[in-house]
Parts: sequence; C-alpha cells; structure tokens
Amino acid sequence: MKGIREVNFTGKKVLVRVDFNVPMDENKNVTDDTRIQEALPTIKKLLSDGASVILMAHFGRPKKGGFEAELSLQPVAEYLSKILGQNVVFTQSLDFTEIKALADGLKQGEIMMLENIRFYPEETKGDVQLAEKLAALGDCYVNDAFGAAHREHSSTATIARFFPQSKYFGLLMEHEIVNLKKLMTSPTKPFTAIIGGSKISSKIDVIKNLLPLVDNLIIGGGMSYTFAKANGKSIGKSICEDDKLQVALDLQEEAKKQGVNLYLPVDILAGDAFSNDCNIKYCPEVNIPDELEGMDAGEKTRELFGKVILESKTILWNGPVGVFEFENFAGGTNSIAKYIAEATDKGAFAAVGGGDSVSAIKKSGFADKISYISTGGGAMLEYLEGKVLPGIKAILD
Ligand code: AMP
Repeated sequence: MKGIREVNFTGKKVLVRVDFNVPMDENKNVTDDTRIQEALPTIKKLLSDGASVILMAHFGRPKKGGFEAELSLQPVAEYLSKILGQNVVFTQSLDFTEIKALADGLKQGEIMMLENIRFYPEETKGDVQLAEKLAALGDCYVNDAFGAAHREHSSTATIARFFPQSKYFGLLMEHEIVNLKKLMTSPTKPFTAIIGGSKISSKIDVIKNLLPLVDNLIIGGGMSYTFAKANGKSIGKSICEDDKLQVALDLQEEAKKQGVNLYLPVDILAGDAFSNDCNIKYCPEVNIPDELEGMDAGEKTRELFGKVILESKTILWNGPVGVFEFENFAGGTNSIAKYIAEATDKGAFAAVGGGDSVSAIKKSGFADKISYISTGGGAMLEYLEGKVLPGIKAILD
C-alpha cells in the first residue's frame, strides 16, 4: 500500500484529490459534512507535517463548460475553513497562471482549494494536458477520493502518471481499500451478503462476483419481485424488470451450483399506492393481489434474514429491503441494520455501502456499530463487481 503514514511531507506542495460532493441546501449550507469530515485526517496529517496542501474536488455535474455560480465550491471551502480553524485560500479563477501564482505563494502548513474541477470539460475525459497543468502545481499527488475512484478523470487518475515516485493513497482511500480487500479475499466464514434496492439490473455483476465467496445471499427490496415473478409468484403491481426474469433464474441456479444459500422474502407488507399514507395490507406469503404493490419485508422475512445475519461472521450490506424513505415501510430495512449491529457486537465484521444503505444505517442509530461504512456508492459496487478502479490502479502502476 502506497500510503502517506510513513512519509514526511515537510516543505512539499501536495495535490490532494478529495470527494467533497456534499449535499447543500438552497442557501448553500452544507447539510451533511460526512465526506469533508472523512477527508480531514489526511489533510491534517499533511498540514501538521508542514506541507502546503492544494485540494482538488468536483461538485455536481457541470454541463456548460466553465464557471457556474450555483456549482461553485466556494461554500465548501468556507465550511472547510471553519472546521479546520484556518484560512482556506480559494479562487474562482480557472486560469492556470493565476492558480499557479497562488499555489506558489502557499507557505508550509497552508491550504488552498481549487474551484470545481469539472468546470474544465476536459476533466471527465481524463485529458492529459489538464492533468499536466494540475500536476505542475505540486510536488506530490495524494488520492483520497474513493467516491470518485471508479472514474478515469484527469484529477482522479491521469494526473498520477506525472508523479511516478510520489503518488499515494490518502488515509480514507487506504481504509476503503484495506476493508474491501479483506472482504473480497479473506472473509471469515460464514459470509452473508444482503443485496437490496430497486433493480436487479444494477446488481447482477455484484451478485455474480460474490457467489463464489459467500455462504448466504439475501435478496430483498424491489429487486426480489423479479425473482418472485420468475418463480411463478403473483407480485401485483410490485416493481419488476420483466426483461430480467431469466437472469434471476440463472442467478438462482448459479447460487445452487455453488452451494450458496439464497434467501428471498417470504412475506410482504404491500400498499395500494406508492406512498407513505397508502392503505397497508399484510401478505403472509409472496402472493400479492393485483391492485397492491410490495413495499417492505414482512415480519417472518425480517426474522428469517435476522437469523442468517446473526449466524454470520462476515456481512456485506448494499441496498434497502423496502421503500425505507417512507416511514411506514422502513421497518424491514431498520431491522437489517439492527441485526447487523447485533452481529457485530458478537464479533462479526460488517461492511455497509451504497448511499441508501448508509443513510438507512445512520438513521437507525446503529452506524457506530458497523465495522466499515464505505464512502463510495458507485465505486464500492464496481470494486465488488471485481473491476479494477482507475483511481486505485493509477497509484499502484
Ligand atoms: P438502489 O439504488 O438500486 O440501491 O435502490 C434503492 C431504492 O430502492 C430506494 O430508493 C428504495 O426506496 C427502493 N426500493 C426498495 N424496495 C422497494 C420496493 N419494494 N419497491 C420499490 N422501490 C423499492
């Protein structure tokens, strides 16, 4: 691991790619600073070494090419300045002569942040010239943006080639890689994966890649209805991908072949409309009347899934098992969070990833019990699919 722990960065100008794509309200207040907080250990280590830090980050998806006031990173720079307790030099300029002058003027222990890196349309193309201009600002490169590690962009991957001897993983990135590696190469058995969410299509490759590793596979949430329909059950108006029925059957068959126990919901809380206030009907088995749609796991399903989770030594959870955004249908997802917390109390290693599962686990109040919560939704999924992430590869090459 090319980490930063053992390196002394005194006197160096260090370019750090962070993921500060944080939610903000209409008054430009940061409403969830998790991503900023999680990058702080790397930033603080570099500053306390006596480095000058130059942060690169993206915000949203600029379309126009060039500066867009509503996607400026200025509010984030101000927020960072507040929680760091020191000035963060910031410029809205996209002109490299001006930016270079500011970077050159940084003293040891000082920090600056560049404007939204995606204001340069070349960034998302992985453009070499942009990477070269960025690289010219510093002496070393640190990638701490796990959330953007699946992107082959100028600031996440291409830039690394200009620092063959001085490119490193930040502490957050290192934490993600160490834990994901542990999960995918040496999980303590039994290993249970809980995969939920709305669509099977976005998780097929993850499931395929996990089958040789896991002992138990729990499928919940919207995607379970594609399995149910493929198995000849009535699913009413439940969400279903009709073009993936065969995929579901193939995955089931593959699980069986590989000796993986596959668990699907056995009872359902259904509603007569897709809303929190709809009329709720309990379906004691997966046999949902035509006018209803499956919204959450029933009590028997929660117990069944819970029993499997409590017997596990390694747990991976990605995707809610119901429409957890609606309070009346958050019970199933909350029960998964509770059982995982209980399993970790008994010594299991639990990893949770994907925006929805992370917010569910935070809402449930059990987040501090989880061994590892990934900060990267798409990046984590691609890692679990067995893909090489460009942001990781670029440091290792
Ligand atoms: P994904 O982004 O694929 O992980 O899916 C997350 C979304 O799946 C959440 O917004 C959930 O509301 C949704 N979801 C979970 N269960 C169901 C369900 N039974 N019907 C419709 N949507 C669901």
